[in-house]
Amino acid sequence: MKPFNYSRAADDKAAVTSARGQGARYLGGGTNLIDLMKHEIEQPDALVDVSRLPHEAIEETGDGVRIGAAVTNSALAGDPIIRERYPLLSTALLSGATMQLRNRATTGGNFLQRTRCQYFYDTQRACNKREPGSGCDAVGGLNRFHAILGASEQCIAVHPSDMAVAMVALGAHVETALGEGSGRTLPADALHRLPGDTPHIDHQLRHGELITHVVLPKAAEHQLYRKVRDRSSYAFAVVSIGVAFDLLEGNFMNVRIALGGVAHKPWRAARAEEILEGKAPSPELFAKAADAELAEARGYGHNDFKIPLMRRLIIASFGEMTAKQENAA
Ligand SMILES: Cc1cc2nc3c(=O)[nH]c(=O)nc-3n(C[C@H](O)[C@H](O)[C@H](O)COP(=O)(O)OP(=O)(O)OC[C@H]3O[C@@H](n4cnc5c(N)ncnc54)[C@H](O)[C@@H]3O)c2cc1C
Ligand code: SF4
Repeated sequence: MKPFNYSRAADDKAAVTSARGQGARYLGGGTNLIDLMKHEIEQPDALVDVSRLPHEAIEETGDGVRIGAAVTNSALAGDPIIRERYPLLSTALLSGATMQLRNRATTGGNFLQRTRCQYFYDTQRACNKREPGSGCDAVGGLNRFHAILGASEQCIAVHPSDMAVAMVALGAHVETALGEGSGRTLPADALHRLPGDTPHIDHQLRHGELITHVVLPKAAEHQLYRKVRDRSSYAFAVVSIGVAFDLLEGNFMNVRIALGGVAHKPWRAARAEEILEGKAPSPELFAKAADAELAEARGYGHNDFKIPLMRRLIIASFGEMTAKQENAA
């Protein structure tokens, strides 16, 4: 690991000021960044610790909830309000990593964790994300975990966070600080980006922009998170889905769907949402929505199986949720 300076920020202004230098990085729980530094994939010359900023509260705000970026994944998953009103988020968090990691990992850091593509971690292999212009060994390589939607020939990596998929499905917004009182609020589904020709850029935040809070709107009546993985713990998603909707007189309202393990960002399934909105649930409708969403999906060999798997997961998730309603009625 390369030597670096460490400082602990007392407030947002001090954090943003300390992180101005190009070589500076924020440190949350360090569960991803420190690993990357050990492999010398990330080589910051300064770490600004933001894990003890006063952003550790989970507060009700009218119909919604505001979550501090320093709240740990364990605290968020176990919070009574989150468990009761946002079970999608709680389930997604608890499906990620291990208890020890969740005790350290923060809400801000979880959003910005980097891909788990094995070539990104192997400095002997070509990777445009690690070293722009060097190529991509995953295209034509072992790409079982890679993208089927929105990829480019420059990069077919997927975003690994379960929490971010849940946040997109719930319609969360991210609040940031950028110094001198400036900051902004952006929808969680606009935070990450597709790889295009610049796969080394994971997200839309500017250098030094600090995530301070995440705001959840009023909770949807019906929510579900499902994760398909190779073993039941300590495994990233092969594919996953977050679904949230209301029902009005038996018809879908305010449907939101986010897919995980399929793209460089949590994938908002806007085509499927449009097909479902305002309609009565039926297996045929679920199949039509899944087919529309996956019409442009493309496999790269080892991951071709993800297309039918994702299709079945969409159909089964809606089938399970609407069957519960019928049984309850
Ligand atoms: C073995 C293992 C298994 C795992 N399995 C899963 C899994 O199944 N599902 C899953 O979702 N995750 C999984 N993870 C990943 C884990 O969830 C992330 O490492 C963790 O959420 C990152 O949070 P952190 O606070 O430790 O981030 P850090 O490592 O501290 O930081 C990550 C990035 O975020 C930036 N950052 C941190 N805080 C802020 C902020 N407030 N504002 C702006 N930038 C910030 C940092 O500069 C860095 O670039 C696993 C990790 C490991 C090691
Ligand atoms: S898929 Fe992306 S992260 Fe993986 S090797 Fe290719 S460029 Fe690197």
